[in-house]
Amino acid sequence: MNYKKKTILDADLKGKRVLMRCDFNVPTGDDGAITDDSRIRKTLPTIQAVLEAGAAVILCSHKGRPKNGFEEKFSLKVVRDRLQELLGIPVELAADVVGPEAREKAKALKPGQVLLLENVRFMTGETKNNMELAKQYADLAEVFVNDAFGSCHRAHSSTVGVAEFLPAYSGLLVKKELDVMGKALSDPARPLVLIMGGSKVSDKIGVIDHMLTLADDIIIGGGMSYTFTAARGGKIGTSLCEKESFDYCLELLKKAEEKGVRIHLPVDAVCGDHFAADAAPQVFADGEIPDGMMGLDIGPKTAEAYAQVVKNAGTVIWNGPMGVFEFPAFAAGTEAVAKAMAESSAVTIIGGGDSAAAVEQFGLAEKMTHVSTGGGASLEFFAGEELPGVAALLDA
Ligand code: AMP
Repeated sequence: MNYKKKTILDADLKGKRVLMRCDFNVPTGDDGAITDDSRIRKTLPTIQAVLEAGAAVILCSHKGRPKNGFEEKFSLKVVRDRLQELLGIPVELAADVVGPEAREKAKALKPGQVLLLENVRFMTGETKNNMELAKQYADLAEVFVNDAFGSCHRAHSSTVGVAEFLPAYSGLLVKKELDVMGKALSDPARPLVLIMGGSKVSDKIGVIDHMLTLADDIIIGGGMSYTFTAARGGKIGTSLCEKESFDYCLELLKKAEEKGVRIHLPVDAVCGDHFAADAAPQVFADGEIPDGMMGLDIGPKTAEAYAQVVKNAGTVIWNGPMGVFEFPAFAAGTEAVAKAMAESSAVTIIGGGDSAAAVEQFGLAEKMTHVSTGGGASLEFFAGEELPGVAALLDA
């Protein structure tokens, strides 16, 4: 995949109307208020740069998964309010997304002004990459900018279709994602270490297979590690297990040996007798988990060994927690790996989703080279797949 793309820094934006796809899919509480605005904050530098370049900005985003047009709880009104606070200028909202109101407001927009379209998923064609809808987005502006890395793995009208009709550039956030993660794949400081965790092997096969051709070390932890243990004949009690992935796990271990990729598997596990925060933690050796107990975290010896691999790394890519970090009694393994990454001089990259949530929880996000804003998108990126939203941008 080509990740060298033209950015807003390559574009002449003066006096233009710029349609910018953002990821404003912010979490909201029961009262509808935003509980975490970091997705909005992360794209502010791009919005500000485009405004400073003398353009007018038309922002658009999805939020949640509305099924039947407008629904109050998926409205971007709360995003508009927060944007106004953060930018310190008025932000108009076009309630009809691309209808007459949006066209009118877009037309009236002057350089330095900002308009926000309502949730693009209120339009039924959006997730089908409907070309008529894409043309309607494009008709609002003269330039398209994509700063929504978390949506780049989806071919939708506002991420891919619209780029058929307008010159398409990456925003600064997408640029950083592509620069850092692209270098980690194409020209990494070595050793290149991949840390895989989370619940299921089957979700991560694409990444493991691709990284097997690139990485020096692959560390396996989290719920998925018990499938490896069971495949090799170990006892895992009631731990997570995907029998249908046994052959894959054994095959992977064989392939890694042939290729000289070091695979690191747990040597011990912190277990509980049920899946709950109040389960009493007990440590067992890997493959010796008794009946009725389930592995909920990597054990202390494993955590130490993994931290050592991280310490000697040139680049570390991490996707998926080492245990049920949401339960404090089973968070130590995930925290140990996060700390080792934070203290390491390696290039450290956190794939989005749960690993990003974990480093935030431990207050270590600022210590990483890069925390990706795209969970699904970064998984596909590290699986070597072409992200349609990136492919649609102009090549550098
Ligand atoms: P994933 O979405 O596959 O990356 O998985 C992330 C989820 O896996 C997190 O919510 C973790 O709590 C969960 N997880 C990690 N380790 C375990 C484990 N040993 N048993 C059950 N769930 C786990």
